[in-house]
Amino acid sequence: MMKIIAKERLPEVLQLLAKDYNVLVPAKFEGVSRFTPYSADVELALEENVLMPPKDIFFPQTEKMYKFKAKDKSLEIEELPVEKEEQLIFGIRSCDLKSLECLDQVFLTKGYVDHFYKDKRDRTALIALSCLQPQEACFCGSMGVDPQNGVGADIQAYDLKDKIGFKAISAKGQEILEKISGLLAEEEVTIPTFGEFNLKADIEGVPEKLQGMFDHPLWADICRKCLNCGACTYVCPTCHCFDIDSEVRGEDGVKIRCWDTCMFGEYTQMAGGHNPRPTKKERVRNRFMHKLRYFPERYKMLLCTGCGRCVVKCPVNLDITAIIKKIKEAE
Ligand code: SF4
Ligand code: SF4
Repeated sequence: MMKIIAKERLPEVLQLLAKDYNVLVPAKFEGVSRFTPYSADVELALEENVLMPPKDIFFPQTEKMYKFKAKDKSLEIEELPVEKEEQLIFGIRSCDLKSLECLDQVFLTKGYVDHFYKDKRDRTALIALSCLQPQEACFCGSMGVDPQNGVGADIQAYDLKDKIGFKAISAKGQEILEKISGLLAEEEVTIPTFGEFNLKADIEGVPEKLQGMFDHPLWADICRKCLNCGACTYVCPTCHCFDIDSEVRGEDGVKIRCWDTCMFGEYTQMAGGHNPRPTKKERVRNRFMHKLRYFPERYKMLLCTGCGRCVVKCPVNLDITAIIKKIKEAE
């Protein structure tokens, strides 16, 4: 038995949850889908995953860290007020839940806790939504992700075509389910069969093989068509590099951090002028090495969830599944 509601009545659920949470839902604006605060007039985008990943909810594209005042030789630091509002993401997909697992490793483990990230993570509940069909560039199944059962959500919601089913996973999820239980019926359901993946990647042995491929000629070949535009890393739910800078007006300043990308030359440019990644060959190599070798070495997991966004958005069609195949076949 599962708690269910007819799909067209989902706004009633969201409306009710919005009384207690800042509810973020997948919605479309001028052709681009992303998580957006729920209101009655948003255009819900439930048929496929959002283009812009949820990482900016926890790790914003630009984030103020603290203010400061510098006068003569003194420096005063002023902490910024911490947001307290509880939030809830409805409709996060299994691949993007996996990306949060990757970001958790970076921002919360190995003896360092990034409190900007942790604060948002702690006050955000997650309702996952199962997928019915893979999009053309999805290959999460090859990366160990089950598109119908995410890991790390408080509630797993199931797309049952004309209905949505809800299953609580955590105690927090149970609490949320109780809040909306008046709207839900109980029914025996069958989860629809998931479609066939168009894209696949055979990742078996790739991290190990890459250990001996730093100087392989394949990187010079792969990098040729890359424009170093960085689009792949900005749409990627797991890429997490950032830069820290100050904006100063007179005595007052604010420290900010903003997304950066290893695809840009300036990313590794040093103050003295030296650049250890001087050409796109080194940058493209770093992107794939980080995702498929360095991250697995450090955290025992891949830094790619198979969401397919970089495949869709790369203007020259540099497809990570094709790169994995090339690595497998390289001598
Ligand atoms: S590398 Fe590409 S397919 Fe993998 S998680 Fe990032 S955007 Fe998705
Ligand atoms: S989106 Fe494509 S062209 Fe742009 S940096 Fe990434 S791999 Fe290169």
